[in-house]
Amino acid sequence: MGKVTIDINRCKGCRLCVNCCPKGILTMSKDCNVNGYYYAEANEEGKCTGCLFCVKVCPDICLEIGCENEGLI
Ligand code: SF4
Ligand code: SF4
Repeated sequence: MGKVTIDINRCKGCRLCVNCCPKGILTMSKDCNVNGYYYAEANEEGKCTGCLFCVKVCPDICLEIGCENEGLI
């Protein structure tokens, strides 16, 4: 349902989104962003329910969740 967009260069690698996603969609990268942090990545986006837990928990406003037919949720 959801399309997960992550601004990887804003990410500070705190893992809060990874820990709160009930579907286990978010993981941490093996590479670093421009600021030297490992960043959140989305896998199997088709499992995203659009719950927005990750959006609400991210202190750096890195995440957006979109819906294919309706734009941003
Ligand atoms: S919106 Fe919910 S299901 Fe989708 S990536 Fe974020 S926490 Fe996971
Ligand atoms: S909560 Fe935000 S800053 Fe923390 S790892 Fe996830 S995307 Fe990065």
